Amino acid sequence: ARPETLTQLFALDSLLTPEEIAIRNTVREFGNERLRPYVADWFENAQLPVREVAKELGSLGALGMHLEGYGCPGTSATAYGLACLELEAVDSGLRSLVSVQGSLAMFSIHHWGSEEQKQEWLPRMAAGDALGCFGLTEPDFGSNPAGMRTNAKRDGDDWVLDGTKMWITNGSVADVAVVWAQTDLDDSPRGIRGFVVPTDTPGFSAPEIKKKMSLRASITSELVLDGVRLPSSAMLPKAAGLRGPLTALGEARFGIVFGAIGAARDCLEAAIDYAESREVFDKPLAAYQLTQAKIADMALEVGKGHLLAYHLGRLKDRGEIRPEQVSTGKLNNVREAIAIARECRTILGANGITLEYPVIRHANNLESVLTYEGTAEVHQLTIGKALTGQDAFR
Ligand code: FAD
Repeated sequence: ARPETLTQLFALDSLLTPEEIAIRNTVREFGNERLRPYVADWFENAQLPVREVAKELGSLGALGMHLEGYGCPGTSATAYGLACLELEAVDSGLRSLVSVQGSLAMFSIHHWGSEEQKQEWLPRMAAGDALGCFGLTEPDFGSNPAGMRTNAKRDGDDWVLDGTKMWITNGSVADVAVVWAQTDLDDSPRGIRGFVVPTDTPGFSAPEIKKKMSLRASITSELVLDGVRLPSSAMLPKAAGLRGPLTALGEARFGIVFGAIGAARDCLEAAIDYAESREVFDKPLAAYQLTQAKIADMALEVGKGHLLAYHLGRLKDRGEIRPEQVSTGKLNNVREAIAIARECRTILGANGITLEYPVIRHANNLESVLTYEGTAEVHQLTIGKALTGQDAFR
């Protein structure tokens, strides 16, 4: 038995309330018992039983966790972050499910929607009975969503949507899609608005994207909108311009600050366990100085990543967090997590490339996490702009 866990080394629990620790422990236990035994197979077969998993996550209160009312638990942002951390310690795909459902689709309806939209969708989504997706990215517009070509045109009282969205998590299994489109409404920039689209509306289809080598325990899809006719009540009334989708992305990104460090912790724990039992040149791998240097350096980053996440959690709970602070957390924690996953893989040697251990799965998943919710480069530019006052995006 190890004398110290990472949590003890950094006295991390001293920064949490008893309620937060209880929520964290519940999600950790759920992850270890209900998800971890199956996740390597889900990843290998690229088949997540998303309805069953969503239903269980709903019962746990993990969907729309820090939203108030409409069947949502209304926890602190820190508690939501801790749930993301424990789910991503199992697999980034499971945390993605929670991020997309709670922070992107449900948050958009909760924050920008009409009372009718909220009543119709949020209770079922919180319970995991209805799945949501969030369509912003397009084949030609990822980091620069302002250029989107998907458009919504007025036809009498109706809206008619045409366009294609790409890389949309849960697109093929969703009951409802929050789709962002250009309109001729004259808000800046170019009248982007959000629409609540039931996925059984004629003209809507969502082919699944295959052959992914990352986030295989997560469904990713294209959304095709071909003359999708919606009533005027389908538009999110309170979101005008890119502020709508960007606010939701900030919410999900906050969860990733915590989540990524969960993946890193899981890799490091697996590597330490492995190094203790693996003998090389007649003694445990853990007893060599080179191994201990790797473990110590990684522990520093995992610990610092937790401290940063907890700090941002407190700022968010006080309503003080700013977008560039979330960018700072996302850039740092995902970048360190991917470096840690790769370093842990070296400790596992050849065993590290198999799905018998979680490490290569986390490493591959983190490639997506580095890119979605704002690429690492976009967050460098955001931080650079905050510190220099110069906008280097274009
Ligand atoms: P691009 O924007 O084309 O970027 C390519 C490269 O150029 C990157 O390195 C980028 O950092 C760099 N770059 C871009 N702009 C600049 C600049 N100004 N200066 C310097 N470098 C720059 N989207 C959704 O809307 N909903 C979802 O549910 C969703 N789920 C996803 C799930 C997965 C598994 C993945 C991989 C993606 C998902 N996305 C989703 C899309 C994701 O948000 C985009 O991939 C991301 O925004 C990057 O866009 P892009 O892939 O088009 O890359």
